[in-house]
Amino acid sequence: MNTEIIEKIETTIVDLPLKRIHKFSATTINCKSFVIVQIFTKNGIAGIGEATTPGGPWWAGEAVETIKVMIDSYLAPVLIGENALEVDALLQKMDAVAANNTFAKAALEIALFDIKGQALDVPVYKLFGGLARASMPLKWPLAQGDAKADLKEAETLMSSNTAQEFKVKMGYMTPQDDVDYIRALCQGLNNKATLCGDLNATWDELTTQKNLPALAEHGLDMLEQPIAAGDYEALARIREASAMPILADESVFSARDVNDIHKYNSADMLSLKIFKHGGLTRTNQIAQLAAAKGIACYAGTFLESSIGTAAFMQLLAAQDSIDGGNELVGPIWLADDIVEESVEYKDNHIWVKHSPGLGVTLDQDKLSHYQRV
Ligand SMILES: [Mg+2]
Repeated sequence: MNTEIIEKIETTIVDLPLKRIHKFSATTINCKSFVIVQIFTKNGIAGIGEATTPGGPWWAGEAVETIKVMIDSYLAPVLIGENALEVDALLQKMDAVAANNTFAKAALEIALFDIKGQALDVPVYKLFGGLARASMPLKWPLAQGDAKADLKEAETLMSSNTAQEFKVKMGYMTPQDDVDYIRALCQGLNNKATLCGDLNATWDELTTQKNLPALAEHGLDMLEQPIAAGDYEALARIREASAMPILADESVFSARDVNDIHKYNSADMLSLKIFKHGGLTRTNQIAQLAAAKGIACYAGTFLESSIGTAAFMQLLAAQDSIDGGNELVGPIWLADDIVEESVEYKDNHIWVKHSPGLGVTLDQDKLSHYQRV
């Protein structure tokens, strides 16, 4: 086995422009911030990783500023001098110095896999068992907060064969306005495409129970995380009453959460994200656990750049039990990217890269250009 001793780790915060605003329940963003990680080995290999959040710490408590501090002050020091190829051992070293902080750990773990793939001259999917599929169909998140603008965007995406499935952000207006918004979108899509709604944990159980029938009647095909994380029994009661499948997102970070969701029958599907689980290894573990328990999985996103998108796609190429949907649209939605050759989208699918490592290379000029000063 080769040895790739870690010599240096650099972190850079970049702010990338967006093609359009994006509304979440808690915030609206017009640019996207990332922590870009570069890990350099003594043999001259450079691995890249990233972490990003949905516009600040409202979703999981981590923000790009805290991620950079956590890496620079606590996580990077325990990796320097270690063998980058021993990824599991290095994850345990990071856990020993910092609880939680899954976004920061994921950024480093992605870069370690990029090094390992390059050192062994294989794409990362080979490190997760090999190529089970080369592409996945794309689900696009509509999030302008204006049904007319969202429908125009959907029409453009459908006619350009970018996506035929859609998801919409809810929870930043009154429940009645949300229901009216869903009705307008479903009528506009006119059964030409599916629509899932993501409430980002903003309703309570009573509000959800009251509005479930109308959402289903208007044609919503799945409801994501209507209530706050943690109350698995309430989510189970909602699922029991719902004609639509329930997708859990904020409710599932750890393997323990998967056990609770299974125990209480709280969700039909789990949204997996590489940052909330702490990297590719642990996302793979969650997917395998969910598969063993008979729960479907969905490939969720924090709207990564091509680095995070390529990383998740490497795992998705190997782990085909995550097949409930794929919303890895970040590179299309960003107005500019920071890699030399972006992730490929065609025929309503996203495609995996086959070159060694993640398959994407950092554009150093763009890193300097978009670096936060
Ligand atoms: Mg979500």
